[in-house]
Amino acid sequence: MQKLEGKVALVTGASRGIGRAIALALAEAGADVAVNYAGSENAAGAVVQAIETMGRKAVKIRADVASAADVEDMMKRVMESFGKIDILVNNAGITRDNLLMRMKEEEFDAVINTNLKGVFNCVKAVTRPMMKQRSGRIINISSVVGVLGNPGQVNYVAAKAGVIGLTKAAARELASRGITVNAVAPGFIETDMTDKLSGETKDALLGQIPLSRLGKPEDIAHAVLFLAGDDSSYMTGQTIHVDGGMYM
Ligand code: NAD
Repeated sequence: MQKLEGKVALVTGASRGIGRAIALALAEAGADVAVNYAGSENAAGAVVQAIETMGRKAVKIRADVASAADVEDMMKRVMESFGKIDILVNNAGITRDNLLMRMKEEEFDAVINTNLKGVFNCVKAVTRPMMKQRSGRIINISSVVGVLGNPGQVNYVAAKAGVIGLTKAAARELASRGITVNAVAPGFIETDMTDKLSGETKDALLGQIPLSRLGKPEDIAHAVLFLAGDDSSYMTGQTIHVDGGMYM
């Protein structure tokens, strides 16, 4: 029997990058997966197809995680499709980098709304069904910069540090109901998000990574898989740093 057989997972922002790798890894371990997306429907469809090829059920659901109404509709779709929810992975995220002096209010708000309020919306939405089941796994994707800081990213860093705080508060609140809440803080991972960085910036970054390479989406998926299964049942409120040793 596979580790997550019979489990249902919802992964936000799962059409590409880290979210896609997480959705595929959960399915490979036996879970049925709701694939949330906000951008390309085709890309989300391709993830669904890949999961179905593994013999698992999958459904794609468009929703903007920053919208509480969208998230409520998404949860209804998950319950209609699968009848329960065991694992929530809050992965959706954006960047709108700018120096502090130049950062526009819209840039600050957009990142806080997606990266922090989006996590709140989704955690709130799964709380009722998970409390009824008296079990659940919530995994929030933070970032190494949420603990280290980063110039040009006050919005993103504030949101990602907020995710670590939200994780701890929710972990304390939900522990008595058998729900664990943990975070994964990736370092710099090869995805569309980091593709935007210049060669010069990437070279400078390598100098700060003890393991001397950028991470792969699968590096993050492996940590999420651990937190989603029974092997992590005595852990809650924690942040696992998967960053090549950047933060230690
Ligand atoms: P990505 O840009 O490749 O993918 C992000 C996904 O989130 C996309 O599918 C996008 O459509 C989706 N998304 C964006 N806004 C959304 C919204 N409002 N509602 C629903 N979905 C939305 O990025 P990635 O590198 O795969 O990042 C995934 C997560 O990992 C993010 O939370 C990011 O902050 C975090 N992270 C990434 C890195 C990295 O180096 N790539 C490092 C640390 C943390």
